[in-house]
Amino acid sequence: MSAKFSWDFFVQYCKNFADNLQLADRMSSFGSGSGPSGGYQLSPRTAQLKYDEILPMSEESFPPTKEFLMKIMEVLIEFVKNTNDRNEKILEFHHPEEMKRLLDLELPERGFPLQQLVQDCATTLKYQVKTGHPHFFNQLSCGLDLVSMAGEWLTATANTNMFTYEIAPVFILMEHVVMEKMRSIIGWETGDSILAPGGSISNLYAFLAARHKKFPHYKEKGLNSIAGELVMFTSDQCHYSVKSCAAVCGLGTDNCVMVPSDERGRMITSELERLILERKSRGHIPFFVNATAGTTVIGAFDPIDAIADICERHDCWLHIDGAWGGGLLFSKKYRFPRFKGVERADSVTWNPHKLMGTLLQCSTIHFKEDGLLISCNQMSAEYLFMTDKLYDVQYDTGDKVIQCGRHNDIFKLWLQWRAKGTQGFERHMDRLMELTEYMVSRIKAQPDKFYLILEPELVNVCFWYVPRRLRSQRHDSRREEELGKICPILKGRMMQSGTLMVGYQPDDRRPNFFRNIISSAAVTEKDIDFMLNELDRLGQDL
Ligand SMILES: *Cc1c(COP(=O)(O)O)cnc(C)c1O
Repeated sequence: MSAKFSWDFFVQYCKNFADNLQLADRMSSFGSGSGPSGGYQLSPRTAQLKYDEILPMSEESFPPTKEFLMKIMEVLIEFVKNTNDRNEKILEFHHPEEMKRLLDLELPERGFPLQQLVQDCATTLKYQVKTGHPHFFNQLSCGLDLVSMAGEWLTATANTNMFTYEIAPVFILMEHVVMEKMRSIIGWETGDSILAPGGSISNLYAFLAARHKKFPHYKEKGLNSIAGELVMFTSDQCHYSVKSCAAVCGLGTDNCVMVPSDERGRMITSELERLILERKSRGHIPFFVNATAGTTVIGAFDPIDAIADICERHDCWLHIDGAWGGGLLFSKKYRFPRFKGVERADSVTWNPHKLMGTLLQCSTIHFKEDGLLISCNQMSAEYLFMTDKLYDVQYDTGDKVIQCGRHNDIFKLWLQWRAKGTQGFERHMDRLMELTEYMVSRIKAQPDKFYLILEPELVNVCFWYVPRRLRSQRHDSRREEELGKICPILKGRMMQSGTLMVGYQPDDRRPNFFRNIISSAAVTEKDIDFMLNELDRLGQDL
């Protein structure tokens, strides 16, 4: 009798204890709002499980596995919601030393339970900059395309490598279809393409293929197979990755000739030809010209057609670096004159992760001539690329690249394209350009507060903010110096207030200036009004 009594008591005691624990957990989470320890409670049983008590190590444990993953999803979806909430800050800024104190980044000797992992995810996102926020204008990759993100989730779950058809049949076929479509938009019926880890590496692939085309023995014989100094040409506004090809591939950066650009940032073609002739007269071998379609800072387009004429005359490979501007190929309205002559190029870099809003990372390189990629890069590793396989081994794309393993960057782009259709991408481009035009008109309507540096060709709007004390001053190089000094201070205020992010940089013509990027589908006219008003609110007393 007394034994039974104490047993009942014990059970009740345990129940109360568990309830109190849950309550305490909830109270602490409510107390700190969405803070590091906040919200996202797993059930008490699942909360304390360790990694080896869910799948794949604990076979009978699907329910807690699911609960854990659903809770992580909840964390992610909350981030999506906050990203799209204009009342939320873009970031909560802390200096690195302070951030180190706020975070627990230690790697433990003994692992943490699932609840801690959920909190770790929540904390990570709490301090992450919301690059998809409608007031984030800081980078060429802005926005959070949710269909593409869903695709990335699937990609992570499928977790496959892209080197052979046998382990990624569906994704490999998607690559074929999407690459072919992109080439047809460029204007080619044939050719070959590959996805690369970023535009810089795409440009490197173009360089390698160009050298291989002209000097097919380089692959086996190396430097000695070329009698003379190879020289490449690009504008002084190009992305630095072009110059890095010269460093990486043995030309030396002195043999990457920077062709002067005009006041709008476009390569001066007469200068290109003069410099080619000058190098030829020294016995050098000009072989590669890069034309940028959408320069990184001011968004300028080099005149492709005129450059193609020069390349023909001097037997040079023409590469188009459209990493940034490539998306405009979708737009009937904006494609011309910017891309006029693009089909005459030998290769084109085009980053869907920029204007098209595909999730990072997604970059493509396209070649007019089929077969070059494989002949240039193939090493025929016998453990991967056997030729006696069950299926047509031309679908084993892994030997076309200088990597071994390749991340699956195609699915998120394919899914996004299914959602938008080609028309959807065209509308997206036209809308981004329309918003850019709106921004320019708003800047021009407030000439006391803003100074437009040049008429944009792309969505890069370059301008100065003018604080009150400089408004009546004449605009000359002295005022430009002053306006340049304002940029880092105003940017600092944006970061501290967390309400806005716009990038700034100097270039070789002028001191610091703001470069605003509109490449997010979240942005509307009212966000542009907000941006300009916020700059004025934060900076008028400077
Ligand atoms: C962004 C950019 C690149 C580099 O692309 P990543 O994907 O960042 O490597 C190359 N060229 C141009 C013109 C760019 O704007």
